[in-house]
Amino acid sequence: MKHNFRNPETAVIHAGQEPDALYGGVSVPIYQSSTFAFHSAEHGAALFAGEEKGFIYTRIGNPTTKALEDCVAALEGGCGALGTASGMAAVTTIYTAFLEKGAHVVSTASVYGPSRTVLEKEYGRFGVEADFVDTSDLGAIKKALRPTTKLLFIETPANPTMMLTDLRACAELAKESGILLAVDNTFASPILQNPLDLGADIVFHSLTKFLNGHSDVIGGIIVAREENVYARLRKVLTLMGGTMDPHQAWLVLRGIKTLALRVEKAQDNAAKLALDLERHPKVAWVRYPGLPSHPQHALSKSQMRGPGALISFGLKGGLDAGRRMINAVRLCTLAVSLGGIESLIQHPASMTHAGVTPEERDKAGITDDLIRLSVGCEAYDDLRADLEQALEKA
Ligand SMILES: *Cc1c(COP(=O)(O)O)cnc(C)c1O
Repeated sequence: MKHNFRNPETAVIHAGQEPDALYGGVSVPIYQSSTFAFHSAEHGAALFAGEEKGFIYTRIGNPTTKALEDCVAALEGGCGALGTASGMAAVTTIYTAFLEKGAHVVSTASVYGPSRTVLEKEYGRFGVEADFVDTSDLGAIKKALRPTTKLLFIETPANPTMMLTDLRACAELAKESGILLAVDNTFASPILQNPLDLGADIVFHSLTKFLNGHSDVIGGIIVAREENVYARLRKVLTLMGGTMDPHQAWLVLRGIKTLALRVEKAQDNAAKLALDLERHPKVAWVRYPGLPSHPQHALSKSQMRGPGALISFGLKGGLDAGRRMINAVRLCTLAVSLGGIESLIQHPASMTHAGVTPEERDKAGITDDLIRLSVGCEAYDDLRADLEQALEKA
């Protein structure tokens, strides 16, 4: 790379995205090809031996996917990135690469539902063990560590409690304990938080959310800080086959160009709406890292460049009132997912976290009254009016 893109607004537009060498196309071409011709028998052998750089077969690597990988690696400050078919393919690639029979994981109690379910239900069948603790409490993490712990798997801000985990402290603990720290950075996006800079070994995203940003693509990406970790992840991903498709990569490249603009606008809307909700007589509580009432407001300032665009809140009337509210919104869409250009509202206990038992949800702080709002880029006045009319009906 010619430039060390540490300004994210520049990196999203230029990193990995040089004009195409053949015709000078400014937009990265879609290399919709499963396989790549060798110049000679010797060339093919050299590519397979890793003696020459180039492309062989799209499950192993593709120029369009590589452009996206280089872009996100620059955004996160990593040595390399790997595009995956979905965010969950990123999660399972990390689990498969670093866990084996008898290995133990410490993870965030309110981690993305499927990241937890797959570990308990599927990797559990192969003898992998896991503890899910309140990682906003460093003491709870320390207590959960075992001699067999291989991976500290953190989500911050966490889904949907909006609780934070101290990344610098976790990096130090992981280093001391000789284990890897992997961070799900989906909620913050690389615009607001760079875990590798704070000492994490691996950072990953569901590209489906902020990075693509238009609620029209599923995808994931993993970024590693060091070559040996990257090489291990790459080996597992290309063997297991959860690779990204070039057309999918191109769509994400198209979306990512406006990432900085979108995050800024959505965050600006969210900061105002969080205050409006907190002041509303029907609202019992609001959890948003940008509010001084958030128990980790200071930590959010020290490890994030901004509080983001997700808000959780509960109504005084509890679950029933919340249900009436989410049925009454007109501009916000009642749907799971987040980080899109449009505002989305959902009820985690009956939707995204329905697969987690009520007892486990309770322990994770996912109360039945919790409503999650992913704020989009609409006009603030329109969003405020929509929430107000829906709250009236709650
Ligand atoms: C959506 C999401 C995932 C999973 O990503 P998919 O693209 O849906 O597979 C993982 N972590 C978080 C925090 C998410 O929001």
